[in-house]
Amino acid sequence: MNLSTPNILPTPAHLVELERLGDAIAELSAHLDAATARLLDLIREFDARGGWGNGFASCAAWLTWRIGLDRGAARERVRVARALGSLPRLAQALARGELSYSKVRALTRVATPETEERLLKVGGAGTAEHVERIVRGWRRVDRIAEAQESTRRHQRRALHVYQDEDGMVVVRGRLEPEAGAVLMKAVEAGREALYRRRDDVSAETRPDGLPRTGLIIADDPPTLGQQQADALALIAETALHHGIDPGAPGERYQVVVHIDAHVLADADAPGQSVLEDGAHVSAETSQRLACDASRVVMRHDPDGRVTEVGARTRTIPPALRRALQHRDNGCRFPGCRLPFGQGHHIRHWGNGGPTTLSNLAMLCRRHHRAVHEEGYMVERQPEGELRFRRPDGRLLPHVPPPATVPTEPVETLRAQNDARGLHIDAQTSRPGWFGERLDLGYAIDVLHPLATSRA
Ligand SMILES: [Zn+2]
Ligand SMILES: [Zn+2]
Repeated sequence: MNLSTPNILPTPAHLVELERLGDAIAELSAHLDAATARLLDLIREFDARGGWGNGFASCAAWLTWRIGLDRGAARERVRVARALGSLPRLAQALARGELSYSKVRALTRVATPETEERLLKVGGAGTAEHVERIVRGWRRVDRIAEAQESTRRHQRRALHVYQDEDGMVVVRGRLEPEAGAVLMKAVEAGREALYRRRDDVSAETRPDGLPRTGLIIADDPPTLGQQQADALALIAETALHHGIDPGAPGERYQVVVHIDAHVLADADAPGQSVLEDGAHVSAETSQRLACDASRVVMRHDPDGRVTEVGARTRTIPPALRRALQHRDNGCRFPGCRLPFGQGHHIRHWGNGGPTTLSNLAMLCRRHHRAVHEEGYMVERQPEGELRFRRPDGRLLPHVPPPATVPTEPVETLRAQNDARGLHIDAQTSRPGWFGERLDLGYAIDVLHPLATSRA
């Protein structure tokens, strides 16, 4: 006798009852999958319209906070939601309850609009385990093709610099995508340093809008090509000047801000806060930059001459910063938990706030900006608890209250799906598989476009 047989011998009535129970599970699961499709549609729209952007680093971070998913599951929901945006057949199969979320999740890892139809058939015919195995085999073929492509690109990288007949130097090359991205970023930063900032400053200082500095002499502004050429020269000079040392990540971008003391205390006060090259920054931005920075205090006489220069100090000394890191263990903004950040003075030091643990909170760069420049507020309760508020003053809870669920959630779900014309029963998501063995090699050869073209 089979040991796994339950010790109560099933009677025909029992069998019927169990059959009914199994059908109920299958039917409700299909209803849930159909509802999940709607949930993913909403997530896709929310993500595309940046609904999470006011205070969260990503849509997944928002989901983690708002509906209590763990990080991995939240990222996966967003990934699947985005993928389904261009895979209408898989999206429809999920929406009709014919394909489970597990299968759709696996299939969206490899499906493209071209292969979607074929993979949909795999999803309909196989069990979740078959689908998972086929997707893994499919990715192997993809990865091999990708690795070959990447090796080819790597071998084709080249940069040629030579002098033309008229003495000009010609630059031609092919860079790998990562190197190219860095170059484009550097050119953009160079262009910004040379042109855009000057434009901002001159627009602020000269009402006629003409450039204040002598750099641009010609009447016509330089073309994009000319600006990029100048930016490349600046990049080369900068690289040589710094001994081609990329520096530690924290040191790569440094900003020097000159701020009048009363601007630090009160953003609305008249006074100046300017970057070293003369460009203005808002008082809020300068307060943020000063929150956790090196500080040199200078005193001026009424004519603007410097009369006294203090020693350079950290606004938050290293020992206190370590204590802060230990206590807060990352960003304190609701739902964030990024493991590193900047020390934020809850009451700004420029405004008399003390640099003590009780007046500090760790915030990541994104949320430090939210608090200084986007109107979010943070206050410490007498018991030490931090309280965050939205710009409109509403409380931003660390754990949002759960949504209200109807008293008969299953019946409501069924009614909603019925109202949308979905007729889901116990057979809706049944795979077409009858127990044959899965021949993975054969399946991939038949299904994968690269595998079939190779054969
Ligand atoms: Zn701050
Ligand atoms: Zn944060």
